[in-house]
Amino acid sequence: MIRPSAPRSAISMSAPDVSADEIGLVNAVLESSRLSGGPMIAAFEAEWCARLGGGHAVAVSSGTAALHVSMIAADVRAGDFVITSPFSFIASANAALYVRAVPIFVDIDPVTLNLDPSAVDAAVRDISRGGASARRWLPRSTPRDLVPLEGRARVAAILPVHVFGQPADMRPLLETAAHDNIPVIEDACEAVGATYEGVPTGTMGSSAVFAFYPNKQMTTGEGGMFVTRNDSWAQLARSLRNQGRDDDAQWLRHVRLGYNYRLDEMSAALGLAQLRRLDRLLEARARVAEGYITRLASVDGVALPEIAGSTTRMSWFVFVVRLAADIDRDAVMAALAADDVPSRPYFSPIHLQPFYREQFGYEEGDFPRTEAIGRSSLALPFHPHLTDDDLDFISDRVKHAIARCPRLTTQAG
Ligand SMILES: *Cc1c(COP(=O)(O)O)cnc(C)c1O
Repeated sequence: MIRPSAPRSAISMSAPDVSADEIGLVNAVLESSRLSGGPMIAAFEAEWCARLGGGHAVAVSSGTAALHVSMIAADVRAGDFVITSPFSFIASANAALYVRAVPIFVDIDPVTLNLDPSAVDAAVRDISRGGASARRWLPRSTPRDLVPLEGRARVAAILPVHVFGQPADMRPLLETAAHDNIPVIEDACEAVGATYEGVPTGTMGSSAVFAFYPNKQMTTGEGGMFVTRNDSWAQLARSLRNQGRDDDAQWLRHVRLGYNYRLDEMSAALGLAQLRRLDRLLEARARVAEGYITRLASVDGVALPEIAGSTTRMSWFVFVVRLAADIDRDAVMAALAADDVPSRPYFSPIHLQPFYREQFGYEEGDFPRTEAIGRSSLALPFHPHLTDDDLDFISDRVKHAIARCPRLTTQAG
């Protein structure tokens, strides 16, 4: 095995791209006396709206906070149902629990890895019918304080997640939702800049959320954005993030239960500079994704990410390959780790997380497509600083790890 002779710098899973623009803008905040609630937030929100072609944008302290605000804005209440994907980051399902609603998982489409629209339609119809047909979509058990109130259980929201930067199949989801007047909340935390049939993610639902943790396509450190075209939802969101203060923002007048979900000026300045460079950031990620695709296209046992026909622009968040069912994914990860190549099992399904098993009685086998993908998926290091040399090295190590791993004789599941 040929190893590079010079010691290579460590390859990281993800890395933010921070330029002099960001440093300049953050410094300008630090040199001013406005560290919160100032011009950077206003500019960040205004430029965000401009990019999405209108509506309202409310910057908050995290994507998770934006999801919580979305639930309240859509009037999701205790005992309601929220239909969402088990193949996501845990925050999308947890948001329902924050308002004591019950997340109802529906299995995914194997191409986009997002909610399967026909299954969502069946779930909405069955749940509205009630009784045994509704029952098959519900978890085995619900914690006592979450038991849906008799006669009130309704699907209060549909929460599609655009995972890995690929839009969910929104057209049929929106049709299902429109039929019963159900709000659709897009979790676009992994898909800033992506388009579905030419339409930007975050502009199709009743509201949408974005997130700016440092591993996302653009970052504010910690931060998120709630967007909507509904004037009163936007007004409510501004109040919720600011301790329930009313529009006039009188300092000690609180009209509802609020939170401190504000984003500070330094973070907003960082976000503003990143937003202005977003297309370049996305192009750099696309270049890295293309680099992986050419290097891994003909590797036996590796399936590359699939792009649906409706995805008119992919916003590469992570680069996740699927390994053939007889390859021990965890052994491949261990072999890569031994070569100093980090990798991650993306995603480990939400319903199989210890908390969800314990609270809702979920078991292996409940969402077979999600589980099959969860077992076989492998996220490779992915960020704009990866060089061709890095990609050669990582791809070579992936091939080597697969060749070295014994193939499993019995398949799980
Ligand atoms: C990152 C992410 C979030 C949460 O964002 P935070 O800013 O970390 O709270 C929510 N949903 C999905 C799908 C995400 O990837």
